[in-house]
Amino acid sequence: MLSTRPVMSTNDLPGYRAKILVADDDQNVRLLTRQCLEAEGMAVVEAANGPQAIDVFVRERPDLVFLDVEMPGMTGLEVCRRIRQMPQGESIPIMIVTGSDDRQSIDQGFEAGATQYKTKPVNWSLLGRDVQYMLRASNAFNALKRQEDRLRYLAYYDPLTSLPNRRSFNEQLNRILKRAQRHKTSAALLFIDLDHFKRINDSIGHSRGDRLLVEIAKRLTMELREDDAINYFTEQSAEETTESEVGTEIARLGGDEFTVVLSDVEDISDVEVVAMRILNTLSEPIALQSHNPVVTPSIGIAIYPHDGEDPDTLVRNADTAMYVAKAEGRACFRFYDEEMNARAVELLKMEEELRHAMRHNQLELRYQPQVDTKTGKVVSMEALVRWKHPERGMVSPVEFIPVAERTGQIIELGEWVMQEVARHCLYWETIGLDQFRICVNISPLQFNQTNLPQWIEGFLGQSGLAPHRLELELTESAIMNDAETNIAKLRELKALGLDLAVDDFGTGYSSLSYLKRFPIDTLKIDQSFVADLDSPDGAAIVDAILALAQTLNLRVIAEGIEDEHQLTYLVDRKCDLLQGFYFAQPLYPEDVPDMLRQNFTSELAASVPA
Ligand code: C2E
Ligand code: MG
Ligand code: MG
Repeated sequence: MLSTRPVMSTNDLPGYRAKILVADDDQNVRLLTRQCLEAEGMAVVEAANGPQAIDVFVRERPDLVFLDVEMPGMTGLEVCRRIRQMPQGESIPIMIVTGSDDRQSIDQGFEAGATQYKTKPVNWSLLGRDVQYMLRASNAFNALKRQEDRLRYLAYYDPLTSLPNRRSFNEQLNRILKRAQRHKTSAALLFIDLDHFKRINDSIGHSRGDRLLVEIAKRLTMELREDDAINYFTEQSAEETTESEVGTEIARLGGDEFTVVLSDVEDISDVEVVAMRILNTLSEPIALQSHNPVVTPSIGIAIYPHDGEDPDTLVRNADTAMYVAKAEGRACFRFYDEEMNARAVELLKMEEELRHAMRHNQLELRYQPQVDTKTGKVVSMEALVRWKHPERGMVSPVEFIPVAERTGQIIELGEWVMQEVARHCLYWETIGLDQFRICVNISPLQFNQTNLPQWIEGFLGQSGLAPHRLELELTESAIMNDAETNIAKLRELKALGLDLAVDDFGTGYSSLSYLKRFPIDTLKIDQSFVADLDSPDGAAIVDAILALAQTLNLRVIAEGIEDEHQLTYLVDRKCDLLQGFYFAQPLYPEDVPDMLRQNFTSELAASVPA
């Protein structure tokens, strides 16, 4: 795979008997050598000629080799040369035993790869000790080499995922950009950050969190390896620069940050395809024992040379693009553009202003009615937050909710919405209005707080709001992410006596088997499908959701009803509730009483031919 991890050699182990190959055509020499070595606790295997020596070497894998130079069939020098060419013979100690001690044959021995030489006659009394020294030296050398390999590995690779680390990434990016400059080609840097990783990590535990990161690394590698162009960053190439390095480089910078560098980019659309594939493969649920979290990435992309000519600029701009991707709803990719710097500054400013807004009562609620298609009555209202900005006017939640999600401000904001809803409801009760249901949006971050049920229980007790008046709108992706764990939480919420709806249904990934087990009351068809009713696909999805709701015995509501055609279609197919501009815009609280007195029977009747 990515690296050849050094293996520990067995002759380091205590109690291990070193095995020595003795190759000599003289039987007496072999016998004497054997006796000396066995007396030192070593095991001996013998060979009587050159070819046999090779044979025994391959079969027995000795720790040290004795070679007589003059042997029939093949000289000891030749045997030595051949052993050195084998992978397992590269660093084995070899002792050449020669009859002559002239300079030339000794040189020949070393050239052939010998570690040591001895001249005949051999001093038998010293032989055992000499061999011990050679083995020890060889072990020390191997240990050093392993240590060095390990250090080099650690310096360039992330030990958890085996991906190249930040240092590799920096060197690699430098090299790729230099090369791109020489060849006048383009390159792309993709910055990948996992959405809400910290929270997921905390909730599934750190060892599962680690496994999740390993799985993410594996998916990235598998997905991008399908490109033939991919080039693995091997240990050697960390040091050697090869001109022909092209393709895809993956690295883990640390935590939940990954990078992909594409070289020789010819068309931006190719980069888009890669980004899309990364998005898709990472967003598949991950099986971790009883948890199946869905981990989406946010991806920022910067292109060389357009978005930066040096590594620093490119990295900074890819990072900015990633920040914008997060702020704009996550689970998406964004190409850097110059306006983004301004946008990033603006987002930071928004964070601060939002903090200020919450302290200074700049947030307001609106209520949008939901109409029962059987009676024409308004039976429920969705609470929607607005930000009345002193300079910018009304800021849409589409703009600031994602920012609040990212910074965690959504928790405080969500609590404020609840309190405000309770305040309004209690007032409406005092003026004698019917107890219609109030739907409150709960963002994924709010839902994933461990103490949400406890908080709501406390809130209900304190505020006096009747639980049956409350419906929580949860997004599909929030509850499907780690579905198994969420069942328990949904049950706790249900036990408080409130209703649960799945908002924007159809836009995320839903597992039918879970849907059946979730204690939910309502499916809310996303408005994009309603807007798309004229297309066969849109209509098919709406039909499928209606059928699903019927089978699961769930209430179903369609939002974003704007015209009569949409109305007719949905009334025709017995959708329970409808919400949209066709009936009313989100209303000021003071307009709610009037709305409740309205009846939409005539609109509904007119839409369905008798
Ligand atoms: P959502 O929960 O799907 O809310 C429906 C959105 O559709 C609302 O946008 C609503 O004003 C809009 N809408 C209603 N009828 C129509 C129609 O006929 N046509 C069209 N085109 N749009 C219609 P809004 O108020 O801008 O809210 C947008 C999103 O912001 C909401 O989507 C929700 O996800 C989030 N949001 C709003 N208020 C809150 C809140 O208090 N807490 C949280 N966590 N999120 C909120
Ligand atoms: Mg909603
Ligand atoms: Mg919705």
